[in-house]
Amino acid sequence: MSFGAVRVRFAPSPTGYLHVGGARTALFNWVLARQAGGAVVLRVEDTDRSRHVEDSVGKILDDLRWLGLDWDEGPDVGGDHGPYFQSHRLDLYTGHVQRLLDSGDAYYALETPEELAALRGDAKERKGVLKYQRPDPLPTVEQGLAARADGRLITVRFKMPERDIVVHDEVLGEVRIPREELEDFVIQKNDGGPTYHFACVVDDELMNITHVLRGQEHLMNTPKHVAMQEALGFKTPVYVHLPLIFNMDGSKMGKRDKEKAIKAGLEPPEIDVHDFRAAGYLPEALLNFISLLGWSPGDDREQMDLAETINRFTVSRVGAANAKFDRDKLVAFNTDWAARVDAERSLEALRDFAHVSGSPLAGADDKTLAHLLRACAGMRTFRDVENKSAFLFVEDDSIAYDEKAVRKVLAKNEGAGFAMLDTLLSTLRDLDSWEADLIDGALKAICESRDLKLGAVAQPLRVAVTGTTVSPPIQDTLVLLGRERTLKRIEIAGKQKAPA
Ligand code: GLU
Repeated sequence: MSFGAVRVRFAPSPTGYLHVGGARTALFNWVLARQAGGAVVLRVEDTDRSRHVEDSVGKILDDLRWLGLDWDEGPDVGGDHGPYFQSHRLDLYTGHVQRLLDSGDAYYALETPEELAALRGDAKERKGVLKYQRPDPLPTVEQGLAARADGRLITVRFKMPERDIVVHDEVLGEVRIPREELEDFVIQKNDGGPTYHFACVVDDELMNITHVLRGQEHLMNTPKHVAMQEALGFKTPVYVHLPLIFNMDGSKMGKRDKEKAIKAGLEPPEIDVHDFRAAGYLPEALLNFISLLGWSPGDDREQMDLAETINRFTVSRVGAANAKFDRDKLVAFNTDWAARVDAERSLEALRDFAHVSGSPLAGADDKTLAHLLRACAGMRTFRDVENKSAFLFVEDDSIAYDEKAVRKVLAKNEGAGFAMLDTLLSTLRDLDSWEADLIDGALKAICESRDLKLGAVAQPLRVAVTGTTVSPPIQDTLVLLGRERTLKRIEIAGKQKAPA
């Protein structure tokens, strides 16, 4: 079957932030379109008001942009196949429902929500799930219209053909769904709006979608879609169902992981793209990592930028088996990417992190941030930069001195560390200027004159000015802090002698 130019769609439902699985779907669709010189359509599937989460469209679009995945048609950019919000297309769906009613491929189903709930309850008691039994004879259109006119909450159902449905999937091959597993399903809800299935099928046709890549969780929706396409005289796009994404322990990766962690008093894991963004990951690294969830380029190559992914991507190398989300591997990817991107890009990404995470880094100027980035070379994520630079953002007289650090580094050996602070105070006060080289030279000179290792000088100084034993290299720490604040902190640290 030929479709002309490739057209794919990304079709998020605005039910919250963009899940990493959704980002992987968006990425594979995007890559396929870019490879073929085709078009990416962004369609917002917002017909289910009960699941709608305020602001989520803006958030999803913003996180897609952060990832660098753009769209050729959709919200903000427009296009020839709009509107791109399903809630603005309701008349179109109603028209196509009418076509199916007219052809006898759909019928009014007169059960009210209460009646269906009762049937579902009965089925549950028998430890089963409700399978909808087609009424015989079918309600007539007149009966349906009369019931609606009476205010009865009824639906329209699609009449499933009396045969197995075969789905052709590019990864899974032919998937045959036996007739007994299929039932007549709702295409128009009791409020007159379309169900997801119906709106999706109508829009895939009207938007000329040629390829549908989506998660395997949708596989059992596809026979419904294929059957409706046949009844409506629509084309069937090429389907590619992508493997599910699991945690390393084999459990499903989802929102519930966060709830579970919070209940157990643990830090919730990152699940949505936004979580990774606010945790200090680079979009380059996250994209690279998720591109390998269910796809591999075929050799041992793993670190790829988007251009290379576009070059190498083939649907034939998408797997069928569940993918595992290896967080350690993601951290390793991010560490490598952080070392690889240039200074300007790194600064831009750090600014974004500071902004979305509400980090104190947001208040720092570009010069300070650029210096911090150099001083934190080897970082895993921007969170490391934040942690290592926390000392910059506390008031000099509010530093929380880590008791253990004070004991081990300052008080031990009859207060050798404290004594070193006195030496440092006078040496640093007298430096001609406050530059890394000069500071370095001064510290080395103290080491040489007293036959000490650098740690014996640098660690007391670090504890004095940061309260902890972790910070960027000592010269950077001091330059960032400035002379005045450094000297003030050394004096304040000297007063910590008492608890020791
Ligand atoms: N709106 C659906 C979702 O968010 C998309 C389903 C599809 O790709 O057909 O899961």
